[in-house]
Amino acid sequence: MLLREVGYARPGSLGEALVLLRADDGARALAGGQTLVNVMKARAGSPDALIDLSALDELKGIELSGDGTLELGAMTTYTQIMESSEARARPILGEVCAQIADVQVRNRGTIGGNACTNDPTNHLPPLLAALGASFVVQGADGERTVTADEFFLGVYMTAVGQGELLTKIRIPPGRSDGFAAVTLGVEGTCIVSAAASLNGAARIALGCVDAVPVVVTPASADAEAVRSAVRDAQLDPPSDVHASSDYRRHLAEVLAVRAVNQASERRS
Ligand SMILES: Cc1cc2nc3c(=O)[nH]c(=O)nc-3n(C[C@H](O)[C@H](O)[C@H](O)COP(=O)(O)OP(=O)(O)OC[C@H]3O[C@@H](n4cnc5c(N)ncnc54)[C@H](O)[C@@H]3O)c2cc1C
Repeated sequence: MLLREVGYARPGSLGEALVLLRADDGARALAGGQTLVNVMKARAGSPDALIDLSALDELKGIELSGDGTLELGAMTTYTQIMESSEARARPILGEVCAQIADVQVRNRGTIGGNACTNDPTNHLPPLLAALGASFVVQGADGERTVTADEFFLGVYMTAVGQGELLTKIRIPPGRSDGFAAVTLGVEGTCIVSAAASLNGAARIALGCVDAVPVVVTPASADAEAVRSAVRDAQLDPPSDVHASSDYRRHLAEVLAVRAVNQASERRS
């Protein structure tokens, strides 16, 4: 048997899902299952019950408001983002989703699940941090909105507490964005990643160099300013079988410049 016995519910409303999550400390939300089910198969996690979010209309859909703000339901899949005409308002979103794993994972995996996992090797945490996304969290006491800087707390840890759900991610308007990564093979997770946004002040977020995306704000988009801002962050990334700490530090500088160059080419 792959998994130990686990309870399962597929609530039909957000309110019902929150009640089920609050009723059992061992209950976990199930989105695309592309991380959670693998964690369960590896016996690295063993929830008592899975609360399947797939029937919750409140967590679906992509809306583009008049000022260019995008609002994406937490259960929006990577494929839906890639195919959405609304999401094309921020082209980098679909472009990065297209780099995630393979078609099966892209058809099941969700933007909310990717953010809530906050696995440093995932593509979306640094991207959302660079774009200045905000996160709408629903709990027993109502709804609150947190910034990307407040959302990502540690490896597999975010501002979403037990008994709460991430419902929406809001992304402010802009098109001058870039992303660069060195990955494990063509469709693999990141060894180091960098996302850049040049809509207003330059903002770069580096992935896989710490437990949370590291945000740096260079004085300009000039390559030496970018390299210097990355160096000033005094990164102390982990060494593992894929890369030494020194190599990750080196990649962080190189990829930050590449991401900024891509964003610069898109400046209107
Ligand atoms: C073969 C393979 C390759 C992969 N490669 C990549 C890659 O290259 N890049 C990459 O970024 N990712 C990769 N992934 C991970 C994938 O993107 C997952 O889809 C993602 O990490 C989790 O999203 P999910 O929707 O599947 O969430 P799930 O696995 O269902 O959930 C993940 C966690 O988030 C919680 N959660 C989910 N939604 C919510 C919510 N709305 N509110 C509160 N908590 C929530 C769950 O309780 C769980 O703890 C890969 C996965 C596989 C299987």
